[in-house]
Amino acid sequence: MKISVDPGLCYGSGECVYRIPSVFTTVDGFGAVIPGREETGDDPEVRAMAERCPSQAITIG
Ligand code: SF4
Repeated sequence: MKISVDPGLCYGSGECVYRIPSVFTTVDGFGAVIPGREETGDDPEVRAMAERCPSQAITIG
């Protein structure tokens, strides 16, 4: 499954980048998915990160 970060919701806590630097990065101060890593939505660690994102900006689908 595919993940994405909504920059309109993200407030740049950086938690996703800190916890899973192989999937998330920072662009202009906001969280973003590293290009080519969008298809990691089946990874339990990524799914858990989507649930714990403080602004619910990470979506899987
Ligand atoms: S954890 Fe959520 S709010 Fe924090 S940088 Fe990542 S997407 Fe943005």
